[in-house]
Amino acid sequence: MEVNKDTEYILGFDIGGTKISGILSDIEGNVKSSSRRLTVKHMGKDRVLKDIEEIGNSMINETGIYPQKVSIVFAGLVDSDLGRIISSPNLFGLSDFNIVRDVKKIFSLETILENDATAAAISEKVFGKGKNMDNFIYISLSTGIGGGIFANGKLVRGNNGLAGEIGHCIILPDGPVCGCGRRGCIEALAGGKAIARKIMENRTMLRESQFFSSIPPGKITAKHMFEGVKKGDMYAQLILEETIFYLSTAISNLICSYDPEAIIIGGGMSLAGNLLLTPLKQSIDESLKGMYRDVKIIKSDPDTGRLAPVAVSKFK
Ligand SMILES: [Zn+2]
Repeated sequence: MEVNKDTEYILGFDIGGTKISGILSDIEGNVKSSSRRLTVKHMGKDRVLKDIEEIGNSMINETGIYPQKVSIVFAGLVDSDLGRIISSPNLFGLSDFNIVRDVKKIFSLETILENDATAAAISEKVFGKGKNMDNFIYISLSTGIGGGIFANGKLVRGNNGLAGEIGHCIILPDGPVCGCGRRGCIEALAGGKAIARKIMENRTMLRESQFFSSIPPGKITAKHMFEGVKKGDMYAQLILEETIFYLSTAISNLICSYDPEAIIIGGGMSLAGNLLLTPLKQSIDESLKGMYRDVKIIKSDPDTGRLAPVAVSKFK
């Protein structure tokens, strides 16, 4: 492996609800090694730290590259100044945990921490579709909904570093209960988990739709909504239309607030491509009417998300 002595190397970790991904890359995003391990809900701090140590050391040994910095991206609320995880909705036992302090002890390197959706937005700015834009909003449509906002060329952090929690904008007062405990957040209406629940709770649909009745109800995910639409299933089409209505309402509100050049859509649901993006663009345009501006709706490149820990390091 060729090691450039003038280049900074980053050891990155992306800790999510289903896996820990490790990456060893130079600061320009040239990946030298990557590795992943599945997580379990109740793995706790010690297992997470042990996995980080093992994944990191194996990538260092494999490449012979010793990095200068560690960058951690985490799916939950974080205080990046203090290096502390505030809350961890997907992995239990990690709330109020200073992960930076403990990971520093493992590798004896400068270590930074960032929220995953904020990091993904930063990655769009550093490596992705937002590279040449001063004003854009990144939205991750996945099991949950998150995002990050760039305005006037700067990342909007807010007073507590918690800006961009797009998923918890309330779109339907008294709507379904959200993971945050309130009702009617966009995440509880149009997130992947919400879509799957909507399908599973609709007994008429499960009985009468030829497509949905062929899938074991416990196995239904948002992916099936798109599959159903492709197969011409009327019920899947109805759920997609409802999802798009809520998403376009939320996005129109953001457009009115920030006047972005583009909305960049990432996360698992973005893989549906134009099946989602074309009607979404149309619905946003209709919803904005007199406030109309031609805001681009762009799909994120999946490789950009992978580089998020490196982007955060380059951005700081
Ligand atoms: Zn919420």
